[in-house]
Amino acid sequence: MGLIAVSRNRRMTDYLESIRRAGGEPVEVGGDEAPAAIVARVGGVLLAGGGDVDPSHYGEAPHARFEAAEPGRDAFEIALVQAALAANVPLLAICRGMQVVNVAGGGTLVQDIPSEVPGALTHAIAEPRFAIAHEVWVAKGSRLWTIMAEQLDGESLQVNSRHHQAVKRIADGFEVTATAPDGVIEAMERPASRFCLAVQWHPENFWRTGEFRPLFEHFVQAVRGG
Ligand code: MN
Repeated sequence: MGLIAVSRNRRMTDYLESIRRAGGEPVEVGGDEAPAAIVARVGGVLLAGGGDVDPSHYGEAPHARFEAAEPGRDAFEIALVQAALAANVPLLAICRGMQVVNVAGGGTLVQDIPSEVPGALTHAIAEPRFAIAHEVWVAKGSRLWTIMAEQLDGESLQVNSRHHQAVKRIADGFEVTATAPDGVIEAMERPASRFCLAVQWHPENFWRTGEFRPLFEHFVQAVRGG
């Protein structure tokens, strides 16, 4: 039961490596298996980056810059999140994963930051993948704050950024736990869950240097029941 299900995506390597370096055992999962069956056989779920969640899932028409994810991935991952939350299985969600969690919980998204957020910072620096794009301000006392205590500079963390969407109306039961200086939501968590944390940046790209290893270590610890 100590396995961590990683939802299949185009860039698996860094997610798998980050989990392994934190002492966890990842397993790839996809839409060929029922979400409830997956949740029953693993100890944790990681949702990775990718294309946009189809806005029909939160009752909106697509923005001109909408870029669809792989066919079937939205429905599969939304169901996977709902199954994980229902079973109180630890959940770590990254980038698109955070947006999926929010939509699965009934929230909405900013569909295109450059056209919808006045004065927005640059949230899309593609290469190198660990390039620092902006800082985030972490909410004091949050789980993220506790986990990243030793890496925090005051209340700030330096993060990479490769997203043009973000959480808008946050899902019920979740709290915002990090924001960028332009107000874009960069992390959220669900206090009622054993471990349910989502970040908008890509901590998995730092496995070589370890800046976000504590995030994966605490996730793996929660998966083990700690
Ligand atoms: Mn960002």
